[in-house]
Amino acid sequence: MSSVASAPVRVRFCPSPTGNPHVGLVRTALFNWAFAKHHQGTLVFRIEDTDAARDSEESYNQLLDSLRWLGFDWDEGPEVGGPHAPYRQSQRMDIYKDVAQKLQDAGRAYHCYCSTAELDARRDAARAAGKPSGYDGHCRDLSAEQVEAYRAEGRTPIVRFRMPDETITFTDLVRGELTFTPENVPDYGIVRANGAPLYTLVNPVDDALMEITHVLRGEDLLSSTPRQIALYKALIDLGIAKEIPSFGHLPYVMGEGNKKLSKRDPESSLNLYRERGFLPEGLLNYLSLLGWSLAADRDVFSMDEMVAAFEISDVNPNPARFDLKKCEAINADHIRLLDVKDFTERCAPWLQAPFAPWAPEDFDEAKWQAVAPHAQTRLKVLSEITDNVDFLFLAEPAEDEASWTKAMKEGSDALLRTAREKLESADWTSAEALKEAVLAAGETHGLKLGKAQAPVRVAVTGRTIGLPLFESLEILGKEKTLARIDAALAKLAA
Ligand code: GLU
Ligand code: ZN
Repeated sequence: MSSVASAPVRVRFCPSPTGNPHVGLVRTALFNWAFAKHHQGTLVFRIEDTDAARDSEESYNQLLDSLRWLGFDWDEGPEVGGPHAPYRQSQRMDIYKDVAQKLQDAGRAYHCYCSTAELDARRDAARAAGKPSGYDGHCRDLSAEQVEAYRAEGRTPIVRFRMPDETITFTDLVRGELTFTPENVPDYGIVRANGAPLYTLVNPVDDALMEITHVLRGEDLLSSTPRQIALYKALIDLGIAKEIPSFGHLPYVMGEGNKKLSKRDPESSLNLYRERGFLPEGLLNYLSLLGWSLAADRDVFSMDEMVAAFEISDVNPNPARFDLKKCEAINADHIRLLDVKDFTERCAPWLQAPFAPWAPEDFDEAKWQAVAPHAQTRLKVLSEITDNVDFLFLAEPAEDEASWTKAMKEGSDALLRTAREKLESADWTSAEALKEAVLAAGETHGLKLGKAQAPVRVAVTGRTIGLPLFESLEILGKEKTLARIDAALAKLAA
């Protein structure tokens, strides 16, 4: 089964709880989840909440709620526990402090007293001289007197990791062999002056302690990988880590105008998709296509199919383009695949307050059950259900001026009068008979069915677009349909 590693696979999903969950984060979670399942491995869910200024409890709760809504499960992490608990980094501070101290004791990290102004000035000078502009190693080997002098000035140091003077090469699972030369990977901070450990330390330390075998994450983190590999080597020397994990960097996701999709772009907000009524399986299916595909001719598939087929080596390193239209089309296909009972249940939120404009007591379950199958074949997202069925539950059809102007032309009143007459004597147990009635009315006025039915539709439903008209009329019933045509005629006469 396993083609990547013979040791049991352990992957992690480790977001920071800042802001609202976004689609890039979901794509990363999905690929890790699918990879773990495919290899019958373990998915560790870890919360990287060491940045007290940016992390929030609200965001943490939202993250968990979103992952549960999407249908993800994890083997270790919040709510499920596990052998490496706790899984919230804010509860693991002692561990990082201890490791930072060990790294310093072993000479693999050191105190750096440089002020931001000094760092900036030296960086600018290096740039001007055409030299590498990263940290210059100023505090690598300070004498005891220099340290004393800095302390006397009241400076508090950060802790910096000492990068080895060597080229780092690794084989990325997505993009193949990558090489980083030392001048491009300078010594870097791992603990702030106030003692707070940084992502650069806590992330690889936890990957090591949690025995992560594969790190699958976004391309934006590629530049931190050579640093982490060097830190890993130090942790192995200290007996803290066992092995360097494999790394795979997932491609960027591009949005409008071929710009990187940012957390701040509205179309990247997961909540938006949820509110619009995307199905989790539809959204995940689409997100899986951002860098991967099941087969050239198959865009629509289940998560089980994805899991069975998912190989990290099949991920395409080129940027993926986020295409909302395609996302909607795939979601629509998943709506069609639901059984009708499931469909009606999933629509429930949009048939109630705050979305539904009708009074709760005007909702009619039998009419809803009758109309649901017609809606299921037409919606792209579930939230569209409200407008599509409101004509059944509102006392008057929705007012939509644009639809009215578009449908009500000269002669529409004559057409409506004839249609009313024919509908009055039609067989109301058959949508086909109602269609014949409107067709016949159209013929009387030299109109094809499409032109003849438009004013009828707007008179009865309020809108030019909606569910199949004659089924809609049949479900609404004769009395209400005729009353609405009368009301439209009165409005036209006025
Ligand atoms: N907490 C990091 C982030 O959300 C995790 C990065 C990683 O996967 O290493 O960006
Ligand atoms: Zn320094």
